[in-house]
Amino acid sequence: MVQEEQDRVLEGTERIAGRAALRNNVAGAVALANAVRSTLGPKGLDKLMVSGDGGYLVTNDGVTVLESARVEQPTAKMLISTSRAQDDEVRDGTTSTVVLTAELLVNALELVDRGVHPTIIASGYRMCGPVVEQTLGEIAKPADDGTSFDSVRTSLAGKGDAGLQDKLAELAHNAAQATGSGEVEHTRVLTERSGSIKDSELIPGIVLVKARVHREMELKSEAGRILILDGGIEKRKPEIETSLKITNTGAIEAFRARERAGLQGRIDSLKAANIDCIVARDGIEEEAHPMLAAAGILAYRRVERPEIEHLCRATGARPVFDIDDIQDEDVGKFASIREEKWHGVEHTIFEGSQSQGVTVVLRGSTDMRLEEAGRAFNDALGVACQLIREPQLLPGGGATHIALARRLRRHAETIPGREQMAIEGFAAALESIPRILAENAGMNPIDELLRVTAAQADADSAWQGLDINTGQTTDMGKASIVEPLSVTRHAIAGATEAAISVLRIDDVLWAKQDAQTPDWQTED
Ligand code: ADP
Ligand code: MG
Repeated sequence: MVQEEQDRVLEGTERIAGRAALRNNVAGAVALANAVRSTLGPKGLDKLMVSGDGGYLVTNDGVTVLESARVEQPTAKMLISTSRAQDDEVRDGTTSTVVLTAELLVNALELVDRGVHPTIIASGYRMCGPVVEQTLGEIAKPADDGTSFDSVRTSLAGKGDAGLQDKLAELAHNAAQATGSGEVEHTRVLTERSGSIKDSELIPGIVLVKARVHREMELKSEAGRILILDGGIEKRKPEIETSLKITNTGAIEAFRARERAGLQGRIDSLKAANIDCIVARDGIEEEAHPMLAAAGILAYRRVERPEIEHLCRATGARPVFDIDDIQDEDVGKFASIREEKWHGVEHTIFEGSQSQGVTVVLRGSTDMRLEEAGRAFNDALGVACQLIREPQLLPGGGATHIALARRLRRHAETIPGREQMAIEGFAAALESIPRILAENAGMNPIDELLRVTAAQADADSAWQGLDINTGQTTDMGKASIVEPLSVTRHAIAGATEAAISVLRIDDVLWAKQDAQTPDWQTED
């Protein structure tokens, strides 16, 4: 394309190219990282987010800060989605991801200014991947019950007071251990605005915000059999509507009697299958309620699909479509079913026989406290579940990052090309984590970084790190400051990918007008 033609194509856009584009993009990333860096670590501060309509939110959660902020800059937006991906996949480590990405970009820009091409920097950053992966594997230690708990507790550092952290860590750890699946979805979270966080509890089953269909039905304090119906107990619609010509009251009576007998027949088959409780996704005919009560069957209707699925996990039941064809393997087992009034609202608590579906009820006095507790709990549950899937731990407190940096610097020496400089830049970026942890605790970041680096060399151990609570450089395992391997690995990989994709942009085009409107429409 000749220049003139190119200019015409780009008419109506603002264009920033080459180094200016990179500078701009880095500035966006840094601005974003600056917004969250002060929340990093146990001494991180909270952010007060104020919305346009005067609503507000206090949070220590990086991803929440980012998602609530109004961000227009394209790189910053991209970074937010990287941190969201971290949140979706491992839930923890979101602030670290953003901070690392920005730091990788700042170091890259410095190299660009010194004449290194962004492509070389990207390739150097890529070369760090396998070294990081291998080193992480060497540093990691297998987790056991005690250290898993420590790791969950570490993820809550800086979130609320110690009482809250202990309670949430215990709930998240126990929930993940109970389900044993490593799936966060297998733990349902219910928030209740009453009582205090200490009254929060783990229920080995599910809580439905509804009551049984009929008062006369008896609740179950003992174990029993539960049938989950993917449908309802309703009168069968006549096959051909029009063929039903009711001419006299006798016929109506006879028709009703047949209907009733039909319902009774289905309830008899439930009884024959020794069902103690039935939960239906659709309705249960009013007329059937007293029949069910008389048969000693407890019934719930109009239960949503996610709750049905959770109930299946908790009881081992499989949803059936037809009551007349109950197979024994479809029947689930519950431990007990009780009702409680919370806040004046009926709740039914199903305790299951299988622990694959559990519920954590978080209690708190204000919505704001509950929301922040909920976010912290999510991180903690994510960590606990990660550890079920991959029970490997790394030292926290910047120890892992410093160990990686030391290894990468040694590796850089073996690379003859300019990539060497990029690898050094990568190592320096990793050190931003311990630097910021120290900074947020009011310590001198450079002194602490040097101290930990020396301690690692001295003890020949990657587990030497900075305990922010005591201000000491010590073994992170002994200090119980540990993190899942998967969280750290994911954060570094995510940050590297994000930084590389920003480095590969050398042209930013901002549309001056609505991109959806073709020129010929606006011309006249
Ligand atoms: P993120 O969103 O990245 O998880 P956090 O605010 O949760 O950010 O901070 C996590 C960092 O805090 C981790 O690097 C972790 O090792 C560190 N950390 C937690 N507790 C301590 C502690 N007592 N001493 C030093 N570092 C700690
Ligand atoms: Mg965290």
